[in-house]
Amino acid sequence: MDLLNTLVDKGLRRELPTREEALAVLATSDDDLLDVVAAAGKVRRQWFGRRVKLNYLVNLKSGLCPEDCSYCSQRLGSTAGILKYTWLKPDEASQAAAAGLAGGAKRVCLVASGRGPTDRDVDRVSETIKTIKDQNEGVEVCACLGLLSDGQAERLREAGADAYNHNLNTSEGTYADITTTHTYADRVDTVHKAHAAGLSACSGLIAGMGESDEDLVDVVYSLRELDPDSVPVNFLIPFEGTPLAKEWNLTPQRCLRILAMVRFVCPDVEVRIAGGREVHLRTMQPLALHLANSIFLGDYLTSEGQAGKADLEMIADAGFEVEGADQVTLPEHRAATAGGGCGSHESAGCGSHEGAGCGSHEGAGCGSHEGGGVCGTAAAAPVAAEPRTDLVAVRRRGAGTDLAPNA
Ligand code: SF4
Repeated sequence: MDLLNTLVDKGLRRELPTREEALAVLATSDDDLLDVVAAAGKVRRQWFGRRVKLNYLVNLKSGLCPEDCSYCSQRLGSTAGILKYTWLKPDEASQAAAAGLAGGAKRVCLVASGRGPTDRDVDRVSETIKTIKDQNEGVEVCACLGLLSDGQAERLREAGADAYNHNLNTSEGTYADITTTHTYADRVDTVHKAHAAGLSACSGLIAGMGESDEDLVDVVYSLRELDPDSVPVNFLIPFEGTPLAKEWNLTPQRCLRILAMVRFVCPDVEVRIAGGREVHLRTMQPLALHLANSIFLGDYLTSEGQAGKADLEMIADAGFEVEGADQVTLPEHRAATAGGGCGSHESAGCGSHEGAGCGSHEGAGCGSHEGGGVCGTAAAAPVAAEPRTDLVAVRRRGAGTDLAPNA
């Protein structure tokens, strides 16, 4: 297990693994899976102990998007039967946020469909942020509104936003295959704008869209270079009515390998299991807590998650603890230089000072195949994942409805 010993050593020193090492994690066999989880778990515990940060999504504006992101149930032309509604009023959003906070969340993620906000939209969201902050002392607020124009990140920061989410989603090389209405470079630019405004950047990926191992490693290395404080890892929810409805590529084991790889490449960053947790990890969710230090509580933007109470029970049963409002999420060396109050970004990347380089606002923060060889064992054989459409439930409660939210 030279590979895993090397990766643990590097993770504890915040040193960037080689691409070959990251690829090798994805290629481990099922026989080695628990060793991989144990190794990445050591890195997770070094920087985050046994804490699990809970985040709560509030979908401020749902559906009817003019963009064509293939993975997204809110896209142009989607026939998924999701909730569609326009901007929630500040009090409605605050009420939805309060349910998540009462359930144990410390961050509220305010998300709106669309290419990006108008200045009027930034006014609306600013009012919502102020309302939520006035009514909930100490809450962290992250906004996720799509591509930002000049000056908008600064205005959100002034309104009290702590963070901004915009995922890269997939590798630069395959980006045009999943979206044609904006570019990878547009997304990178928005993450830079968030950073520059002093917001804590949150940017992650979606796995399971048919990408190669190389693509996954590419996007995670690009994220490390961008240096977000949090990296949401979405597992594609193949919604009926979207172009990727048949992309059932993920197994629970594959999801665990991906999370382990992300942890090794971004050792001291908040790694969050985002959309698709219940659908793809299923009964393996507790093992994933050894890799990620953050999850969403309750429902997602357009789909239902497991009951918030079940999330809390899972965390306790697995021997972890919910991170309190008085606990700092990031390790001291990152938090000390926090740009946004709730996080930080260093100059050198995903927490690393080393040289080499360490948004979507869809499914969770929204929404393969295998490769080859490690630890002296043969590569994992490709496993065809069974479609589990039975586990995909469109959200019909919470924000935008008259029904109580799941938190
Ligand atoms: S990910 Fe965002 S921009 Fe893309 S289609 Fe969905 S709501 Fe629109």
